[in-house]
Amino acid sequence: MAGTTLDDYTDRYARRVRGMKASEIRALFAVASRPEVVSLAGGAPYITALPLDAVGEMLGRLGSEHGATTLQYGIGQGTLELREGICEVMALSGIDAACGASPDDVVVTVGGQQALDLVARLFLDPGDVVLAEGPTYVGALGVFQAAQAQVVHVPMDSDGLIPEALEAAIAEQARTGRRVKFLYTIPTYQNPTGVTLTEERRERVLDICERAGLLVIEDDPYGQLGFEGEAPAPLRARRREGVFYLGTFSKTFAPGLRVGWILAPHAVRDKLVIASEAQILCPSGYAQAAVATYLNTMPWREQLKVYREVYRERRDALLDALTDLMPEGTSWTRPGGGLFVWATLPAGLDSKAMMPRAVAARVAYVPGTGFYADGSGGGHMRLNFSFPPPERIREGVRRLAGVMEQEIATRQVFGAVRGEGPRRRAGSDTPGPALA
Ligand code: PMP
Repeated sequence: MAGTTLDDYTDRYARRVRGMKASEIRALFAVASRPEVVSLAGGAPYITALPLDAVGEMLGRLGSEHGATTLQYGIGQGTLELREGICEVMALSGIDAACGASPDDVVVTVGGQQALDLVARLFLDPGDVVLAEGPTYVGALGVFQAAQAQVVHVPMDSDGLIPEALEAAIAEQARTGRRVKFLYTIPTYQNPTGVTLTEERRERVLDICERAGLLVIEDDPYGQLGFEGEAPAPLRARRREGVFYLGTFSKTFAPGLRVGWILAPHAVRDKLVIASEAQILCPSGYAQAAVATYLNTMPWREQLKVYREVYRERRDALLDALTDLMPEGTSWTRPGGGLFVWATLPAGLDSKAMMPRAVAARVAYVPGTGFYADGSGGGHMRLNFSFPPPERIREGVRRLAGVMEQEIATRQVFGAVRGEGPRRRAGSDTPGPALA
């Protein structure tokens, strides 16, 4: 096939490949990782907060002393040792034996991302509808798109997914005769908004899904990274049937190990294992041993506190900088945990169109358009606070505010020509009626 061009492959692609495109975040990484750019774009944890010497030593021993097992193939479901450790981690959030959580129903995955893909493989036929928060995690959109499903967004406000909007979306799908398979939700410190579904709404959302016969896929990478006390208990802690709980060690330990899991209803566990074996045979024995040994021998609960402290300080730095520096008409969420703030731009600004100017000013963010299946969301942006230190965060916001001021000034010049009215004023504490 020497000398072939991209076009030579185009008509050979499977139908599911047609909608695939690089995520907005991936396209940005190359630029955002230049040292002169303050990147508020990524979602990387601050790995340097780990005791890297001790972790490194532990990793070395796993090879030299236990290599005969850690470097061997393993079983598709994952090691019992790790699945027991995972149950301890979940128990910290209230998902314990009393609500039916057992190592037997845990399937170890290659990060939360494979967990999402497995759920999609198990349940989605082309044309099926998935309900998801609007906005939602970009990597989940990619998975659902690859499964040729259609994502219908349900609006949120500062209390999370709006139950009435969920009911309306379900009714609308019923009217059009399309099959909704599940609700995909990130109820706690959501990516990208940082918003948390309230206690009261959790029960309502579960009731609505139960009544409509919808499964619930609860994605919870951030639930243990709260800055202001405990988050409301996960959905899985409230219902044992119909809820799939997806977890990961990417944000609470280390994403480079690529270890996550699904806690599935018992009846489905075997199908998940079979689907996972078809994809990867088995998760990495070495990575599983690393996480299990970390949980069994190192102070992981203390490490959670360290991550929370670091991120709380950085969140505060970001919120303070936004309050001090953003142009009027900008508003943003105030996350109680996690890694992200969701900002809403003054009317008329477009975060995607502004991006090249922001990068020229040496600051990067993720345009809101990446988080909607239909590419809407241009009036918003996601800002990460877990990775850059506080002084860099402030400098990033200063640069960003400068770019926005310029955009506004340009718009006003042209807007005046077209006879547009003055900009609407919004306070920093008004997240807007809905984040969609
Ligand atoms: N779900 C959500 C909501 C996420 O934000 C992420 C990572 N950013 C993932 C799943 C997947 O992460 P990983 O595969 O590293 O566990």
